[in-house]
Amino acid sequence: MSRAFNFSAGPATLPEPVLLQAQSEMLDWHGVGASIVELSHRGPEFMGIAAEAEADLRRLVGIPDDYAVLFMQGGATTQQALIALNFANPRQVADYVISGHWGKTAIKQVKPYLDARVAATGEAGGFRGIPARASWQLSDDAAYVHVTANETIHGVEFRDVPDVGAVPLFADFSSSIASEPIDVSKYGLIYAGAQKNLGPVGISVVIVRRDLLDRAGQPRADIFDYRSHLKGESMLNTPPTWNWYLAGLVFKWMLAEGGVQEFAVRNARKSALLYSTIDGSGGFYRNEVDPAVRSRMNVPFFLHDEALDKPFLKEAAAAQLISLKGHRALGGMRASIYNAMPVEGVQALTAFMQDFQNRHG
Ligand SMILES: *Cc1c(COP(=O)(O)O)cnc(C)c1O
Repeated sequence: MSRAFNFSAGPATLPEPVLLQAQSEMLDWHGVGASIVELSHRGPEFMGIAAEAEADLRRLVGIPDDYAVLFMQGGATTQQALIALNFANPRQVADYVISGHWGKTAIKQVKPYLDARVAATGEAGGFRGIPARASWQLSDDAAYVHVTANETIHGVEFRDVPDVGAVPLFADFSSSIASEPIDVSKYGLIYAGAQKNLGPVGISVVIVRRDLLDRAGQPRADIFDYRSHLKGESMLNTPPTWNWYLAGLVFKWMLAEGGVQEFAVRNARKSALLYSTIDGSGGFYRNEVDPAVRSRMNVPFFLHDEALDKPFLKEAAAAQLISLKGHRALGGMRASIYNAMPVEGVQALTAFMQDFQNRHG
């Protein structure tokens, strides 16, 4: 067996100790004689896993008690729609600041449900930056302001929390949650699909200020209602137990490695090494994002000659560096370097990039 360094944007690489533990527990979880995926979600074994996962995530991310935590199905895209149903009536405004592809999907999901407005967008500039806060056209009476903390495709990341006054700030943290300390109290709601930085695809996390759950929202089925999910301890229907269990193992791994403080250091080191390799290549490689808001998690880059894309990907794969092909919307390359990507993986990638340049430059 040989494991490559996997730069996939999501589903993404998982910590090897987590995969090994899941493997060793696959047939017989802690001596109960069955796999955890074969047991009832309401049995003591899984209830224990669920409770520990929430406690561990609270400790990892630093979630205050006045915030509820939900584990949901449907991915981040479903949360993008549910926030409208749960927190705004059809005549209410919601302001969207769009800094890339996922901001665009977010506003698309709520258009049927409320008066969705673009407060600012970086589209005219090809999403290479974040519109200056002073240029945002915010509505006084908005139900919420929505931002994408890290744009996974365009590689654009907010480096501070924008001040939006008394209106609750809602943020899509799918690709950067737990990558560094965040001040949860500055947000009304945070959501994240797990398959970037938290675990396997199939589960997402919603962190919501409890008082916001009193808002009427719109008529909706129980299964679309965050209050019902909270009351039902995220087990309104059969939850994705395998995904929840694996995410729980990832939380424990992150805590054991030193928590978000430690990952902030590693992630800064990894991204600085990669950007300096790109910037120091004399134009052989380039990243076009405003350096002030370059993502620490997803680094899109282009080779100076597109004809080199195929050989680059082929030689990288031969060197055990995989999933570097850029998103089809942008082309080029993208290296996703989440918490589970070790510093050694980025060192191997940058050494390969320099060697490739020497041979093809
Ligand atoms: C991947 C991603 C999504 C979509 O997640 P799904 O789980 O596929 O719905 C939304 N927002 C961001 C920032 C993402 O990276």
